[in-house]
Formats: sequence, structure tokens, C-alpha cells
Amino acid sequence: MTDDAHAAPRGVGVVVVAAGSGSRLGAGVPKAFVALAGRPLLAWALDAVRAVSGLASIVVVAPAGMADPGAPEWAGVELPPGARVVAGGAERSASVAAGLAALDPACDVVLVHDAARCLTPATVFDRVVAAVRAGHAGVVPGVPVVDTVKAVDPDGLVTATPERATLRAVQTPQGFRREVLEEAHAGGADATDDAGLVEALGHRVLVVEGDVRAFKVTTALDLAHAERLVAGA
Ligand code: C5P
Repeated sequence: MTDDAHAAPRGVGVVVVAAGSGSRLGAGVPKAFVALAGRPLLAWALDAVRAVSGLASIVVVAPAGMADPGAPEWAGVELPPGARVVAGGAERSASVAAGLAALDPACDVVLVHDAARCLTPATVFDRVVAAVRAGHAGVVPGVPVVDTVKAVDPDGLVTATPERATLRAVQTPQGFRREVLEEAHAGGADATDDAGLVEALGHRVLVVEGDVRAFKVTTALDLAHAERLVAGA
């Protein structure tokens, strides 16, 4: 627990990263703007974001060239009042850094959320915020892995088999004390998740319970799965 954790809470800022190309989905439009039951993935993702308790600021990071919410691709996305839209970068980390820079200075807790995890329940957001408010510098939702995971060398030869029970597949939203995340991104390093950058600074990161519905829509199969979930099938 730090002194910061005892200070009066100033609000939660959420950076929704939606600037990926979605090449693995092959839909012809950036992934966050692909339709799920007639609404862009981004619109579904924002449904849970707007329910975050203590919410003070939302920044949506859009693909460069698509940062105008009046563009046709944005049809069906209702931006919460006060939400800002900024252009992302070539790598995910650059997109997060751009979003972080545009957050309201009043936010002391920052959540970074993948628009592609569009069906993440609001309860996961609340769990992450609660753990950051309880004093953790970094908090990620995670679920046990079902497959045995191997580390391999460039020739495909196995170098290690971590014990499965110790592994978690991590999701978003990932939550941080703001100054910790800013320091993590100050160096401009790239990583597949923000917690990795925070760990590299020497902070301990807590894994809280995630949710199977927080899966990332990456392939056409994932999109079909999401369609079945929203249809209640
Ligand atoms: O590429 P990946 O599936 O890991 O992307 C995860 C999230 O990061 C997606 O919501 C995607 O839109 C976002 N992203 C981004 N800027 C990039 C690459 C990915 O905002 N350059």
C-alpha cells in the first residue's frame, strides 16, 4: 500500500485501443469496426466501459485516418459524452501511449482495454479497478489455460514446459496507477500487453479473475463465437 492509495480517488480513465488493422480477421475494415450483430465491435466494447464506476475520462484510439467519429465506419458507435478520439500508432504500445497522453489529468487509475475484447462483462472492469484502488500498481484479469504450453526455440524444439497450473491467459482491461503506466510507456518499448512493461519496471502485477467472455476477437471463428453469444445461443 502506498501513500497514493490512501489519497482521495480522483477518477478512472479508460483507454480503448481500437487502432489495429485486424488483418487476421480479413474483413476489409479495421477490426474494431467490423459488425457483430449489426453493431461495430467498438460499440459493444463501449457498453461495458460506460458502466465503470468512478469513470472520469474515456479515450478511444482509432486507426490513423479514421479518428473522425463522423466517418461512415463509425455508424452505430455512440461515443459516451466527453469521450475523446485520437489516432493510434503502428504498434499497440504506440496506440496505448497516444491514448494515455489524451486522458483527463484528473484520472489517477487507468484501464487499458482492447476493443477486440468486445464482450468483456462490466464485472471484470470493477474487479480490476477495485484491486488497483486497494493498492496494487498493476492488475490484469486472467483465466486458467486449458492447453499445455511449451516454450520453443527458433527451430521449434521445446525449451521448457511450464507447469500448467501456474499459468494464466491474461485479458483486458488491464488497470494501473496512472503514474506507473506513464513511466512504463515513457521508454517507447513495445509489448503485447501493458502489464509486461510495468513488470519490466520491477512492479508486482496482480492477476484477478477474468472471464471467458473477455476473449479477443481475432479470427472469423472468434467472430462467429461472439455472434452466437450475443444471440444467446
Ligand atoms: O493486434 P491485437 O489483436 O493484439 O490487438 C489488440 C488490441 O490492440 C485491438 O483492440 C487493436 O485494435 C489494438 N491495437 C491498436 N493499435 C495497434 C495494434 C493493435 O490499437 N497498432
